[in-house]
Amino acid sequence: MANSVSKPPLMYRSKYSGDNMQSEKPKFIFNCQKCGQCCEKDVEVLFCDIEKWSRDGTIYQIFEDLVISGQPHSPVIGFERADGKCKMFNPESKECKIYHSRPIACQAYPLKYDGNGFFLRDSDCPGLNVGEMSHESLVDIRKAAMQEHEDKNRTAAVLPALQALLLKDMAKKSEEAFSKLTDDEKAKLEEILKKEN
Ligand code: SF4
Ligand code: SF4
Repeated sequence: MANSVSKPPLMYRSKYSGDNMQSEKPKFIFNCQKCGQCCEKDVEVLFCDIEKWSRDGTIYQIFEDLVISGQPHSPVIGFERADGKCKMFNPESKECKIYHSRPIACQAYPLKYDGNGFFLRDSDCPGLNVGEMSHESLVDIRKAAMQEHEDKNRTAAVLPALQALLLKDMAKKSEEAFSKLTDDEKAKLEEILKKEN
Protein backbone atom coordinates (compact mmCIF):
# COMPACT_ATOMS: atom_id res chain seq x y z
CA MET A 1 0.00 0.00 0.00
CA ALA A 2 2.81 2.40 0.87
CA ASN A 3 4.29 1.81 -2.59
CA SER A 4 1.14 2.94 -4.38
CA VAL A 5 1.32 6.41 -2.81
CA SER A 6 3.43 8.98 -4.63
CA LYS A 7 6.42 10.17 -2.62
CA PRO A 8 6.93 13.85 -1.81
CA PRO A 9 9.90 15.67 -3.38
CA LEU A 10 13.22 15.19 -1.61
CA MET A 11 13.41 18.84 -0.59
CA TYR A 12 10.57 20.97 0.50
CA ARG A 13 10.60 24.20 2.36
CA SER A 14 7.86 24.73 4.85
CA LYS A 15 6.40 28.20 4.75
CA TYR A 16 5.05 27.75 8.22
CA SER A 17 6.48 26.94 11.60
CA GLY A 18 5.79 27.44 15.27
CA ASP A 19 2.36 28.71 16.37
CA ASN A 20 0.71 28.97 12.99
CA MET A 21 1.23 25.27 12.25
CA GLN A 22 -2.33 24.49 13.34
CA SER A 23 -3.93 26.67 10.69
CA GLU A 24 -2.10 25.09 7.76
CA LYS A 25 -2.72 21.80 6.03
CA PRO A 26 0.32 19.58 6.66
CA LYS A 27 2.47 18.86 3.61
CA PHE A 28 4.31 16.23 5.55
CA ILE A 29 2.53 13.02 6.55
CA PHE A 30 4.47 10.37 8.34
CA ASN A 31 3.69 7.25 10.32
CA CYS A 32 6.67 5.10 11.27
CA GLN A 33 6.37 1.55 9.90
CA LYS A 34 9.02 0.22 12.29
CA CYS A 35 10.98 -1.25 9.37
CA GLY A 36 14.38 -0.46 10.94
CA GLN A 37 15.74 0.90 7.64
CA CYS A 38 16.91 4.14 9.28
CA CYS A 39 18.77 2.15 11.97
CA GLU A 40 21.15 0.96 9.23
CA LYS A 41 22.44 4.51 8.92
CA ASP A 42 24.87 6.21 11.27
CA VAL A 43 23.07 8.24 13.87
CA GLU A 44 24.80 11.21 15.41
CA VAL A 45 24.41 11.54 19.15
CA LEU A 46 24.17 15.15 20.32
CA PHE A 47 24.90 16.79 23.63
CA CYS A 48 21.17 17.14 24.39
CA ASP A 49 20.95 13.32 24.14
CA ILE A 50 23.78 12.85 26.62
CA GLU A 51 22.10 15.34 28.99
CA LYS A 52 18.76 13.54 28.68
CA TRP A 53 20.38 10.13 29.23
CA SER A 54 22.18 11.43 32.30
CA ARG A 55 18.86 12.64 33.71
CA ASP A 56 16.81 9.52 32.98
CA GLY A 57 19.56 6.95 33.69
CA THR A 58 19.75 5.62 30.08
CA ILE A 59 23.44 6.62 30.05
CA TYR A 60 24.32 3.51 32.11
CA GLN A 61 22.55 1.29 29.56
CA ILE A 62 24.27 2.71 26.50
CA PHE A 63 27.62 4.06 27.70
CA GLU A 64 29.68 1.10 26.48
CA ASP A 65 28.08 1.21 23.04
CA LEU A 66 28.97 4.83 22.30
CA VAL A 67 31.82 5.42 19.89
CA ILE A 68 33.68 8.52 18.85
CA SER A 69 34.73 8.84 15.22
CA GLY A 70 35.53 11.61 12.75
CA GLN A 71 38.55 13.88 12.70
CA PRO A 72 40.36 14.83 15.96
CA HIS A 73 39.33 18.48 15.48
CA SER A 74 35.70 17.58 14.70
CA PRO A 75 34.80 14.35 16.50
CA VAL A 76 31.37 12.75 16.07
CA ILE A 77 29.72 10.59 18.69
CA GLY A 78 27.44 7.72 17.73
CA PHE A 79 26.52 4.13 18.46
CA GLU A 80 28.57 1.08 17.69
CA ARG A 81 27.14 -1.13 14.96
CA ALA A 82 26.24 -4.80 14.95
CA ASP A 83 25.32 -6.70 11.78
CA GLY A 84 25.08 -3.46 9.84
CA LYS A 85 22.65 -1.81 12.22
CA CYS A 86 22.87 0.52 15.17
CA LYS A 87 23.66 -1.52 18.28
CA MET A 88 20.52 -0.20 19.97
CA PHE A 89 18.39 -2.08 17.41
CA ASN A 90 16.95 -5.34 18.73
CA PRO A 91 16.94 -7.72 15.74
CA GLU A 92 14.43 -10.07 17.39
CA SER A 93 11.73 -7.60 18.33
CA LYS A 94 12.81 -5.20 15.52
CA GLU A 95 12.53 -2.36 18.01
CA CYS A 96 14.87 0.23 19.40
CA LYS A 97 16.13 -0.81 22.85
CA ILE A 98 16.01 2.83 23.99
CA TYR A 99 12.94 3.95 22.06
CA HIS A 100 11.64 5.81 25.15
CA SER A 101 14.81 7.92 25.10
CA ARG A 102 16.11 7.58 21.53
CA PRO A 103 18.45 10.27 20.15
CA ILE A 104 16.90 13.50 18.96
CA ALA A 105 18.01 12.69 15.38
CA CYS A 106 15.95 9.47 15.53
CA GLN A 107 12.97 11.37 16.93
CA ALA A 108 13.15 13.80 14.02
CA TYR A 109 13.65 11.15 11.30
CA PRO A 110 12.93 11.49 8.37
CA LEU A 111 12.61 15.25 8.85
CA LYS A 112 15.46 17.73 9.08
CA TYR A 113 15.60 21.45 9.77
CA ASP A 114 18.35 23.76 8.50
CA GLY A 115 17.47 27.02 10.21
CA ASN A 116 15.25 28.21 7.36
CA GLY A 117 12.84 25.38 6.75
CA PHE A 118 12.15 21.67 6.99
CA PHE A 119 13.20 19.10 4.44
CA LEU A 120 13.34 15.33 4.07
CA ARG A 121 16.58 13.60 4.93
CA ASP A 122 15.27 10.33 3.53
CA SER A 123 12.64 10.34 0.81
CA ASP A 124 12.65 6.52 0.80
CA CYS A 125 11.45 6.20 4.39
CA PRO A 126 8.48 3.80 4.12
CA GLY A 127 6.57 5.82 6.72
CA LEU A 128 6.11 8.80 4.41
CA ASN A 129 2.62 9.52 3.09
CA VAL A 130 1.10 6.65 5.03
CA GLY A 131 -2.24 7.14 6.76
CA GLU A 132 -2.94 10.29 8.70
CA MET A 133 -0.80 12.31 11.05
CA SER A 134 -2.08 14.06 14.12
CA HIS A 135 -1.25 17.70 14.69
CA GLU A 136 0.53 16.71 17.94
CA SER A 137 2.79 14.26 16.08
CA LEU A 138 3.60 16.89 13.49
CA VAL A 139 4.48 19.41 16.19
CA ASP A 140 6.64 16.83 18.02
CA ILE A 141 8.63 15.79 14.96
CA ARG A 142 9.22 19.41 13.95
CA LYS A 143 10.33 20.32 17.45
CA ALA A 144 12.77 17.40 17.38
CA ALA A 145 14.16 18.50 13.98
CA MET A 146 14.60 22.06 15.25
CA GLN A 147 16.25 20.91 18.47
CA GLU A 148 18.62 18.69 16.50
CA HIS A 149 19.61 21.66 14.36
CA GLU A 150 20.08 23.96 17.36
CA ASP A 151 22.11 21.45 19.34
CA LYS A 152 24.65 20.73 16.57
CA ASN A 153 26.86 23.74 17.33
CA ARG A 154 26.69 23.22 21.07
CA THR A 155 27.72 19.58 20.58
CA ALA A 156 30.64 20.55 18.34
CA ALA A 157 31.84 22.92 21.08
CA VAL A 158 31.71 20.42 23.96
CA LEU A 159 32.57 17.17 22.19
CA PRO A 160 36.36 17.44 22.41
CA ALA A 161 36.00 17.82 26.21
CA LEU A 162 33.50 14.96 26.29
CA GLN A 163 35.89 12.82 24.29
CA ALA A 164 38.60 13.47 26.90
CA LEU A 165 36.16 12.48 29.64
CA LEU A 166 35.18 9.27 27.85
CA LEU A 167 38.84 8.34 27.31
CA LYS A 168 39.56 9.10 30.97
CA ASP A 169 36.66 6.87 32.00
CA MET A 170 37.90 4.06 29.73
CA ALA A 171 41.38 4.36 31.23
CA LYS A 172 39.86 4.21 34.74
CA LYS A 173 37.81 1.12 33.85
CA SER A 174 40.88 -0.61 32.37
CA GLU A 175 42.85 0.20 35.50
CA GLU A 176 40.06 -1.19 37.71
CA ALA A 177 39.78 -4.34 35.58
CA PHE A 178 43.56 -4.82 35.70
CA SER A 179 43.63 -4.45 39.49
CA LYS A 180 41.09 -7.30 39.80
CA LEU A 181 43.29 -9.77 37.91
CA THR A 182 45.23 -12.45 39.80
CA ASP A 183 49.05 -12.35 39.65
CA ASP A 184 48.96 -15.25 37.17
CA GLU A 185 46.46 -13.48 34.93
CA LYS A 186 48.52 -10.26 35.07
CA ALA A 187 51.67 -12.19 34.10
CA LYS A 188 49.85 -13.83 31.16
CA LEU A 189 48.46 -10.47 30.01
CA GLU A 190 51.88 -8.84 30.19
CA GLU A 191 53.30 -11.73 28.15
CA ILE A 192 50.59 -11.25 25.49
CA LEU A 193 51.18 -7.48 25.40
CA LYS A 194 54.93 -8.01 24.97
CA LYS A 195 54.21 -10.28 21.97
CA GLU A 196 51.82 -7.70 20.48
CA ASN A 197 54.57 -5.06 20.65
S1 SF4 B 1 11.47 6.21 10.45
FE1 SF4 B 1 11.06 5.40 8.38
S2 SF4 B 1 12.87 4.14 7.91
FE2 SF4 B 1 12.84 4.48 10.13
S3 SF4 B 1 11.76 2.71 11.02
FE3 SF4 B 1 10.22 4.35 10.69
S4 SF4 B 1 9.40 3.93 8.67
FE4 SF4 B 1 11.31 2.76 8.80
S1 SF4 C 1 18.99 4.65 18.51
FE1 SF4 C 1 17.24 3.34 18.11
S2 SF4 C 1 15.99 4.42 16.60
FE2 SF4 C 1 18.03 5.37 16.61
S3 SF4 C 1 19.20 4.33 14.97
FE3 SF4 C 1 19.61 3.25 16.89
S4 SF4 C 1 18.10 1.58 16.99
FE4 SF4 C 1 17.40 3.06 15.46
